[in-house]
Amino acid sequence: MVMGCIYVVGFGPGSVEHITARAREAIAESSAVIGYNTYVDLLASLVADKEIVRTGMTEEVSRAQRAVDLAMGGRTVAVISSGDAGLYGMAGLVYEVLMEHGWQPGDNPTVEVIPGISAIHSCAALLGAPIMHDACTISLSDHLTPWSVIEQRLEAAAAADFVIALYNPRSGRRTRQIVEAQRILLKYRRPDTPVGLVKSAYRSRQQVVRTTLSDMLNHEIGMLTTVIIGNQSTFYYGDLMITPRGYQRKYTLGEATQRLRPKDRLKPENEPWALPQAPRQTDTHPGHHAGSGTTAPNTPRAWAEAALAQLERRADPKPALSGTPPAEAVSAIPVAHSWPNAQTQILEVAVSPGVANKKFLPSQLLVLADLAGSTGEIEYTTAHQLILRVATDDPEHVVSQLQEAGLTVLPTGDVVKVKACDFCDGEKADGIPYAETIARRLAGLSVEKELRIGYNGCAMSCYGAVTEDIGLVFRKGKFDLFLGGKTTGRNAGPGQRVAEGIPAEEMPDLLERIVQRYRQEAFPGERFHKFFARVGEIEGFSHTSQPQTIAVDSPCGS
Ligand code: SAH
Repeated sequence: MVMGCIYVVGFGPGSVEHITARAREAIAESSAVIGYNTYVDLLASLVADKEIVRTGMTEEVSRAQRAVDLAMGGRTVAVISSGDAGLYGMAGLVYEVLMEHGWQPGDNPTVEVIPGISAIHSCAALLGAPIMHDACTISLSDHLTPWSVIEQRLEAAAAADFVIALYNPRSGRRTRQIVEAQRILLKYRRPDTPVGLVKSAYRSRQQVVRTTLSDMLNHEIGMLTTVIIGNQSTFYYGDLMITPRGYQRKYTLGEATQRLRPKDRLKPENEPWALPQAPRQTDTHPGHHAGSGTTAPNTPRAWAEAALAQLERRADPKPALSGTPPAEAVSAIPVAHSWPNAQTQILEVAVSPGVANKKFLPSQLLVLADLAGSTGEIEYTTAHQLILRVATDDPEHVVSQLQEAGLTVLPTGDVVKVKACDFCDGEKADGIPYAETIARRLAGLSVEKELRIGYNGCAMSCYGAVTEDIGLVFRKGKFDLFLGGKTTGRNAGPGQRVAEGIPAEEMPDLLERIVQRYRQEAFPGERFHKFFARVGEIEGFSHTSQPQTIAVDSPCGS
């Protein structure tokens, strides 16, 4: 008997250059090519001398059956699928039809699935680098999957901060699904979350639209579109949609010498966000056990016992919080080295919905309230942050729950604080990416004395950026820079306007150099305005003295 062969070929987004060499080889070796009409047309140049079996949409089952029939008769057949054949493609279906025939691996015909570039990756490449991190694909097609399941997946992916690629987002008849998807996502993500719409990637009618979660439905979305929704860190840099992977947590990307030497980069104290290496004896959180050596099996019974143990712990009175906790007990994020000891300590962190976003979601407030419990404190401050103070033997868990809720968590005290306006509730969004870059790079860095960077998105400067230690006013795509504002006190006053019209893309690096100089050269406890007056020059900007105030007798003479 002549052995037949089925190649299930993913041919990528649709351009000949993006077909892999193995896919071309497989098509060349095949005597028959089976595919959806449009795909056969896309590959016309490669399939000219073959028997072609083309069918319409929703004919996948008959295509797979035909491939199996031909191959069982000894033919070599290529079943072509766009993108990757193993993702909403033909691979699974071919195996399922073979199984119906009682086929076993090794039987006639042989099967080879040839991987291709899926839409998530081709569309991402056209947008910049929006995937970069944990991402998932969700198909909005409910022809074969109940909508209730799709809805659950959208909720879970949105809550877990995945970058999401929506496939099959909309067709002539399925128009509500994308509206529902947007509604669900807006429960968890900011309206200005970057969203990329890519239609017909690498095909002749390619279209790339950069928009936001709140605005996406005002653009064309159809059968040939993939919708890529950013996570909470995704930003636009000009036209590029970028999701940072987290390098800024450890590296200064603009500098040749790094704060951490290579041998220190993987040390636990430099990764306070990582899962502690040694399992903790008192840990009762299900799913929180670190690999081998842990005692709790991953079963519902173990979870129930863990939950009971936790309730018992909650019933124990926690140390009461009165006034400001003693300095040595107040720990912010960089205290991981003390966490595995499981001692109760008071965690103090600054929490906000983001640098530009001023709106807490109800679900985020619930998480905050739950973490504070009856003995913790939530305090609002002038720095556009809430301070959460809570007694805990597991600060890492508290921080990760806040972050999982989409909240920005930073240390408190003498650190860099970045305060931005709300960009007219997102209407003046051009400056937001720079604010986010600056916050990501600088917010939370330890300094001699609290350093406030004020950032306003237009010349109105209604959030008072110019009276902060460093003020940035973004207007017409450029920055005005103010240095040395005195933020509080009887003689408070605005900073000196040292420059106008700084190109926006230069600002984050320039600001980082200013902050680094202050970090390196400030005297103990020296505030930024005093530092600027003392050193007289920073990054080429010279300090000029403020006019002296003259004491005047009261005009009434009383
Ligand atoms: N197997 C394919 C997906 C098929 S499902 C893959 O891995 O890419 C069909 C969906 O894929 C479309 O609705 C669209 O969301 C996406 N898609 C496929 N090719 C695309 C392209 N060239 N440009 C944009 N989206 C594409």
